Amino acid sequence: MSKPRRKRREPIPRPELRCACGYELRRYWPYCPDCGRRQVWRDEGQVTGAECYNCGWVVSDKFSYCPWCGADIYEEGYSSETPLKAPKGFKFHARCDWGCGGGLEYPMPFCPWCGKEQTWSDDQFEGTCPHCGRGVDDWMNWCPWCGKDATGQDLIPEALTRVRRLLAVSRIKPWGYRVLLRPGVSGVDPRWPKIVEIDQRYVVGKRTKDEIPWSTLVGLITHELGHSFLFHNWRWTRTERFRRVFGEVDKAYRGVDDTWVDFQRRRISSVPVNHVTAYAATHPQEDFAETFRFYVTRRGRMRELLAELGQKRKAPVVYEKFLALHDYIRGRR
Ligand SMILES: [Zn+2]
Ligand SMILES: [Zn+2]
Ligand SMILES: [Zn+2]
Ligand SMILES: [Zn+2]
Ligand SMILES: [Zn+2]
Repeated sequence: MSKPRRKRREPIPRPELRCACGYELRRYWPYCPDCGRRQVWRDEGQVTGAECYNCGWVVSDKFSYCPWCGADIYEEGYSSETPLKAPKGFKFHARCDWGCGGGLEYPMPFCPWCGKEQTWSDDQFEGTCPHCGRGVDDWMNWCPWCGKDATGQDLIPEALTRVRRLLAVSRIKPWGYRVLLRPGVSGVDPRWPKIVEIDQRYVVGKRTKDEIPWSTLVGLITHELGHSFLFHNWRWTRTERFRRVFGEVDKAYRGVDDTWVDFQRRRISSVPVNHVTAYAATHPQEDFAETFRFYVTRRGRMRELLAELGQKRKAPVVYEKFLALHDYIRGRR
């Protein structure tokens, strides 16, 4: 059977929606999420015939305020004396938050009619920027709204450097994981195994760096990386050896939020005997994540780990968990 013949459709060129770096942008994003460049949305193609004197962005003669920077651009004889819904060149998406009656196009931060600040819900995004609280997607390096690090990694450089070093000395090669500081929960969604979300409450809103609990953060991040590592190596969970020591990882589990677990504990606890910590006993997936955390924070040094387990009188199965992980990591290299 031959392939159906189709007319080749040329892609529609939209050069004005690309950043200088080549990245495709959404109209009126102040920053490129890929390279962080500041954008100026001019009156390309002379649609309105007007640009703001202050910021250079496209405006309408009818406006009284620049909807992008908030500058007063009222001009007698041009500006509309009554608020309009959508003058030429602009779309109507919502009315002004303050009830002046004027219309706005997403994502204008200011009302072009009364000049007041507006809020938009960015519900089409996957997450929230830890710097400005507006919508960002997981892949974005830079926030398209405030231009800062959209991952929030810039807020926890010490913790991330420490975790990276611990993984390296434990001989665990990076598997493409991506740490994101986000509001609300800490966890890894099995549908996006490389995305490791860390609750930003540890960091955002803290006045000084001393207020940030670094050791808790390092513990939390390595625990979450354990989940990500396991999802990434899921086939291993099907092996006889894995099942024997960690059990059935598919067992019903309503994805726990790890935020409130005490990851500051740096010592192995003596109870329960069959798990490295009490939290590890809640589910095989948590068991693995906790085993991973201790393995990595002990730099993969098995002799030290096994001595510590001996002191705490752990059951042989706990030794076997660490040995299974150790052998798996060595076998992967
Ligand atoms: Zn760019
Ligand atoms: Zn302006
Ligand atoms: Zn208004
Ligand atoms: Zn932002
Ligand atoms: Zn967990």
